[in-house]
Amino acid sequence: MARGKARTTRRKVKKRPKKAINWSGRAKRWWKWAWWVDGNGPFALLAHCRVLTVRLYAKCDEAERDKAVIDRGGCGGPCYGNHEIVDLRKKRPNREPEAELEEFRDYRRRWMGV
Ligand SMILES: [Zn+2]
Repeated sequence: MARGKARTTRRKVKKRPKKAINWSGRAKRWWKWAWWVDGNGPFALLAHCRVLTVRLYAKCDEAERDKAVIDRGGCGGPCYGNHEIVDLRKKRPNREPEAELEEFRDYRRRWMGV
């Protein structure tokens, strides 16, 4: 970065601020085939209904509350009742993305003609 003698020996032991984790970025990496990723926080409420949608929450009980709502009333659109909560702080769940990707493409073809 700095060229030549610009390098000084500043001994600045700055306390590193806790790096905020970009949960929605992580969620988008984990579930590339998601229709959308909304909100922010480490608790992801996934709805695998027709297409995958991901909503993120800062608190687990908020995610659980909303899961209870969509478990009862559906998550909108064609709902299979296939909802789950994933903790983004843990290891990425092992899923077979190909099947979901195929489902996603199928949905897109059918409903959006692309
Ligand atoms: Zn659903």
